[in-house]
Amino acid sequence: MNYTVHQIAEITNAEIIGDKDSVIKNIAFDSRIIYSTKNTAFIAINTKKNSGEKFIESAIDRGINVIISENQFPQFENITWILVENSVEFLQKLAKYHFEHSHLKSIGITGSNGKTILKEWLYQCLWNEFPTIKSPKSFNSQIGLPLSLLQINDAHQLGIFEVGISKPDEMQKLENIFHPQIGLLTHIGTAHAANFTSEEELISEKIKLFKDSEVIIYNGDNPLVEYKIKQLYSSKKLISYGFKKENLVSIKNNISKEEDIIVEYFDEEISFPAHQRDEATLTNALALLTVLKELNIENQKIIEKINSLKAIEMRLEAIEGVKGNIIINDSFNLDLDSLKTALQFLNEYKKPEKSLVLTDILGVNSNSRELYEEVSELVNEQKFDSVFLIGDEISKFSHLFNSKTFTFIDTHELIESKHLTDIENQIILLKGARKFEIEKLKDLLELRKHDTVLEINLNAILHNINYHKSLLKPRTKMMAMVKANAYGLGSYEISEFLQHHHIDYLGVAFADEGAELRKKGITTPIVVMNPEQHSYDTIIQYNLEPEIYSFRVLDLFYEAVQKSGYDKKYPIHIKLETGMHRLGFKGFELDQLSEALKNKNVKVQSIFSHLSSSDVPDEKEFTLHQLEIFDKNSGYLIENLGYQPIRHILNSSGITSYTDYQYDMVRIGIGMLGESPDSEIQKQLQSTVSFKTVISQISFVENGESVGYSRKYKADHLTKIATIPVGYADGIPRLIGNQVGNVGVNKMLAPIVGNICMDMMMINVDNIPNIKEGDTVTVFNAKPSLKEFAGYCKTITYEVLTSISPRVKRIYVKD
Ligand SMILES: *Cc1c(COP(=O)(O)O)cnc(C)c1O
Repeated sequence: MNYTVHQIAEITNAEIIGDKDSVIKNIAFDSRIIYSTKNTAFIAINTKKNSGEKFIESAIDRGINVIISENQFPQFENITWILVENSVEFLQKLAKYHFEHSHLKSIGITGSNGKTILKEWLYQCLWNEFPTIKSPKSFNSQIGLPLSLLQINDAHQLGIFEVGISKPDEMQKLENIFHPQIGLLTHIGTAHAANFTSEEELISEKIKLFKDSEVIIYNGDNPLVEYKIKQLYSSKKLISYGFKKENLVSIKNNISKEEDIIVEYFDEEISFPAHQRDEATLTNALALLTVLKELNIENQKIIEKINSLKAIEMRLEAIEGVKGNIIINDSFNLDLDSLKTALQFLNEYKKPEKSLVLTDILGVNSNSRELYEEVSELVNEQKFDSVFLIGDEISKFSHLFNSKTFTFIDTHELIESKHLTDIENQIILLKGARKFEIEKLKDLLELRKHDTVLEINLNAILHNINYHKSLLKPRTKMMAMVKANAYGLGSYEISEFLQHHHIDYLGVAFADEGAELRKKGITTPIVVMNPEQHSYDTIIQYNLEPEIYSFRVLDLFYEAVQKSGYDKKYPIHIKLETGMHRLGFKGFELDQLSEALKNKNVKVQSIFSHLSSSDVPDEKEFTLHQLEIFDKNSGYLIENLGYQPIRHILNSSGITSYTDYQYDMVRIGIGMLGESPDSEIQKQLQSTVSFKTVISQISFVENGESVGYSRKYKADHLTKIATIPVGYADGIPRLIGNQVGNVGVNKMLAPIVGNICMDMMMINVDNIPNIKEGDTVTVFNAKPSLKEFAGYCKTITYEVLTSISPRVKRIYVKD
């Protein structure tokens, strides 16, 4: 978009205070991920759950000076305000106008599954045919869709947008803003069906998007979809695809055979090799092919494009580098959008110095000067220390970059130059087109070089937190337990991420865990659950808040507070004993406790207790009894204190099983890592941790030969055995050797054979086809799952995670 403030106000009936001639090209709605402030307005979006107005200040701090909001805040000076009645309706109105005045061909994708993957595939296939715009990530909602549409500019010829709904009547609103020429309906599944009375209602609602479409491409495997579309839209061009032969586009041959897939497209045949042959992937491939045909792409080109599709792995990884550096690696693809995403990701880290490695952007037909001008503008705003440009094309424009800039013909030349080895304590972004193989730089800069890694998906953590939040009242606060190195995942990285997403409290076990977080810049309030006697000074020095569970601790801690010269009321948290019999004040101590508290210069920030058995359905009666004691005792204490501290008792399984007892706050732990004892809840959560390694060697062991220490396994026929570099020193219990446990290889289970060694173990891969040295092995993630793995170890998931040795490299990924 490209409008003046005045034009925006005209289009949307808004009021202006300030400079009406400012030009706006972007609207940012999240003050934390503003990657550019030039020509950018910040919109404070108010929803039922959240008020965006809280973030106006931080947007202004970042340099924004146009704010769109329902209210004006006169304390900020020299700001242009666009005052609107309703922030969401404003966005929708502006987006509708903008879309209707654009001249692009548009594809609208809806359905239950596969929307994002199809959008990304289409984009990968089409961006070098037409200047193309797509919705970022899965921006498809009442807010996400308008924001996506507003990114359309005059140069774009094609737009690919996802549209998602979760409730009846939402589609009508979205269709009013966005009416795609080509409608694409993916698989309709049960996701989100909860708010709809029937499958029919769900389908009818989704297909409202196609009211003005010329062509509808839909998955016809579901008879109800087929029926509804034909009933409503018989006058449009309809193309069905899917596994059933009645579809106009379907697969002709047997997909389980390892031969090329042959697609029947009306009466043509088109064939291509397929590596992944699951039904979902192939169904998506049919949809993709149909859209490409509809856009008149030649068959030969379609096949080439499908062949070069990469699994959608558009993720950024942050890795610990040598010399205190953090490496952000995105060597998968490079275009302007993915560069913006990477710059946003970079902004979430608070390292003062940063460097960038950037390659040519390939396959661009349009004006390269314009493109690199835009690239350099984005890059210059980030104030990189050094910029390393790789490739002929981008090197021609090195003068556009303001940082110390170096140019190289290829990645090899940069490695040889040794420039990178001088960098210390910086965040280094590697961003390149695949051809340049800049992942070689990652290998060079990476700290520990093990093949065995623990990969932690931060998006999944956010999903799991949001799932738990969705069960709670909007006002209920949340504490995230990051004790024991955040259940083994990395205390700082997880806390930094949670802080960024506005978690209310963090909980650690010991004072030094909290101190470590403070030293690295975590400012969120931190509760120390187990304040040891010698650690009180650390607690006070680092502004941590102790759990007080006995008179002894109260007196000693207070003594330390007085000695330290702290002169305000020190925040503390009172732990009540309600049945766990671990730590806490008992009922008969409450009178004495309130007296003691009144006489001290402390502030009881919260009163809490802990459930011993919220995850054990058979102990419901006991748990309700604990809750009753908590209610009574905390109520009594509050009455005597004369003020109202916040109360909390639920841990993760408490949140899901005893939601009514949320009080003012809950404490999430294992639930944010995607584990629940309840199988229905488990389905709603995402797995966050993947423990992986690679095969070091494959050997054939003859009948009668043995494997490993003490000859515990003997082959009874010629057997294929693989060795993997992970052992009991990495945290794999030795007791799961000798065919007790399994690991995953090519989505199949392979039993561990022989005794587990310190740094290695052997697995039987006799039944696993097509495996080779260097292939990935999953210790746990999906197959086996963390829960299944804990089952082999005869323990709980908590112990498995906290036992993984610190020498296993942690990698954090984000979509
Ligand atoms: C660890 C802990 C939690 C979190 O428990 P989960 O079962 O992992 O949700 C909550 N409260 C306290 C006091 C804890 O120590």
